[in-house]
Amino acid sequence: MTDTKNTAGTNWRPATALVHGGTTRSPFGETSEAMFLTQGFVYDSAEAAEARFNGEDPGFVYSRYANPTVAMFEDRIKMLEGAEAARATASGMAAVNLALMASVKAGDHVVAAKALFGSCRYICETLLPRFGVESTLVDGTDIEQWKAAVKPNTKALFLESPTNPTLEVIDIAAVAEIAKSVGARLIVDNVFATPMYQSPLSLGADVVIYSATKHIDGQGRCLGGVVLSDEEWITEEVMPFVKHTGPHMSPFSAWVLLKGLETLPLRVAQQTNSAGQIADFLAGQSKVKRLIYPGRDDHPQAEIAKRQMRGGSTMVALEIEGGKEAAFRFVNALDLIRISNNLGDAKSLITHPATTTHQSIGEEARAELGITDGILRLSVGLEDPQDLLEDVEKALAAI
Ligand SMILES: *Cc1c(COP(=O)(O)O)cnc(C)c1O
Repeated sequence: MTDTKNTAGTNWRPATALVHGGTTRSPFGETSEAMFLTQGFVYDSAEAAEARFNGEDPGFVYSRYANPTVAMFEDRIKMLEGAEAARATASGMAAVNLALMASVKAGDHVVAAKALFGSCRYICETLLPRFGVESTLVDGTDIEQWKAAVKPNTKALFLESPTNPTLEVIDIAAVAEIAKSVGARLIVDNVFATPMYQSPLSLGADVVIYSATKHIDGQGRCLGGVVLSDEEWITEEVMPFVKHTGPHMSPFSAWVLLKGLETLPLRVAQQTNSAGQIADFLAGQSKVKRLIYPGRDDHPQAEIAKRQMRGGSTMVALEIEGGKEAAFRFVNALDLIRISNNLGDAKSLITHPATTTHQSIGEEARAELGITDGILRLSVGLEDPQDLLEDVEKALAAI
């Protein structure tokens, strides 16, 4: 399996890397990447098997360790992110868990931003302490809180930006400096920004993770995740964890997500453009109490967003005047935009976080995060923006 032409593209711009990056071809010379649905590999001789196992021959051994289709996905996203190495996982949560587990041991300490995806918060608040890893949650937008929380045994700092669902923007470079000061690793969950609009490694972060389930698939088909970082840590800490505990991505999912990467820039650009139009429309509506969009000048952290992001977002957060009742009336009156907790999809999807994704964290935690009963999170899809605007306008009138 060789394709010398396609391994040369280190200077490719993102859109090119996303079409050609990482491609290896079988002796058939297929145009589209092959899906290697195989558990294992055969060797021509006992000596060849020995060489594979002792690392003299770098070929594949078993798909829990590595697989050709998964490797193509890893190489492609690695080029886009500008990372030395990547490991793909079965889901975004497997990637989060992997990045944290590969960073800490009993007696260590983790600092995380409070505004985390629900399951990420569970790992930090509930799971890690069970194994003797202490965690502190801070208001991610307040740099002083990060500074005050780190200790000599802090090994990982963890944040999302923009956050879910209120789209707060956290100053990644400032948090990276704090991480460096104590020798901790900064892990950034970059799902909401997408790799197109934010490159945490270039801002000083040590690890970037994605739920590939979201924009990378972008068409609602399969779950996946990826951890990107430096070669040394991936080889020495991440790879053994994957190899021996099995959170790897399936070759089928890798193939779907690999094809998803090809169209990622086009989809994200179109979805962001439509999201910007919808945000501008909603901002002028009397029934909308609050509109949060990282691409607008009235965003609470607009200046940081401009500095660290190359585009707005495919996501819009809005607070409907009149609490849960009014928010439900609005959501139920939408025809085109569907009710779902997913995001980054070709189909526009809306969520009422207080009663769904953020129901389990409780009222107090929601209040702390600004997740009121009127807050809605809209993931803008690939429909004609005019149709989306008409749907939103009609639903607002129905409140
Ligand atoms: C969806 C999501 C995850 C979890 O990803 P899965 O693929 O669903 O496991 C983690 N972080 C963020 C920000 C997400 O949106």
